[in-house]
Amino acid sequence: MINKVRFGPSGNQKLFYEQGHKHSIEAPAWLRSLGLDAYEFSFGRGFTIKEDTAIKIGEEAKKNDVLISCHAPYYINLANPDSTMIEKSFGYITRGLTLLDCFGGVDYVVHIGSCGKLSRQEALCNIKTNLKNLLIILKNGDFLRGGKRLCLETMGKPQQIGTYEEIIDLCTLDECLVPTFDFGHINALTGGSLKGYDDYKKILDLAISKLGERAKSCHIHFSKIEYKDKGEIRHLNYDDEIYGPDFAPLAKVIKDLNLTPTIICESKDNMATDSLILKEIYEST
Ligand SMILES: [Zn+2]
Repeated sequence: MINKVRFGPSGNQKLFYEQGHKHSIEAPAWLRSLGLDAYEFSFGRGFTIKEDTAIKIGEEAKKNDVLISCHAPYYINLANPDSTMIEKSFGYITRGLTLLDCFGGVDYVVHIGSCGKLSRQEALCNIKTNLKNLLIILKNGDFLRGGKRLCLETMGKPQQIGTYEEIIDLCTLDECLVPTFDFGHINALTGGSLKGYDDYKKILDLAISKLGERAKSCHIHFSKIEYKDKGEIRHLNYDDEIYGPDFAPLAKVIKDLNLTPTIICESKDNMATDSLILKEIYEST
């Protein structure tokens, strides 16, 4: 399932509804008709979907060869020193993995945490300890059945844990941990550093050298993102000409390194049609 490059949107674009569709159950067939084969379902603001609905969407996804991934709630924070809050974060992860299983998906995207009042070093230390404890729970409870992966995301604001180096390092803790490279976030956090082929390649080379084969089928988020000196401000559509980053050099790196990532487009409005643009750029590379 994760042995080929896949493209798809996060959520349903307006166009989906404008074309008469009413429910996400219809999304996989719609994406397939456009030529897309991935679909990310977000629990960012909570779990609103029921298990039987997730199963129905999952059946449609399987029929249409669309691979579903899920995005965990934004309020997970494995750096939090409060053990009650950590228990809650663990619950958001086990709940999400259960729903991901209903969807028949593999990848669960997680924002791992932020510093709050802690130093960066303390926050990272808490995250490592909590991740190790979480992995014991996930393995004992068989939450990772079917080869599921926790895809730790690179983040766009300085207070958040999630530079690409930090994410790659955290992923060395276990085979089930894989980076979600959000290149819009990386670009925003570093003031627009992703300019060409080498800027992307050094990140993916580092991941492959530290994580081996599983880095080749990493999860990717791609959208242009507005930023200032304090990092990410807002997601844009791919037609933005100011902020970047551009997909073309990344497409070439993906081809040259024989990578098979799932590439999810998180454009502001045009996430499905921009996904198609990314796919066309990749295919013409
Ligand atoms: Zn995210």
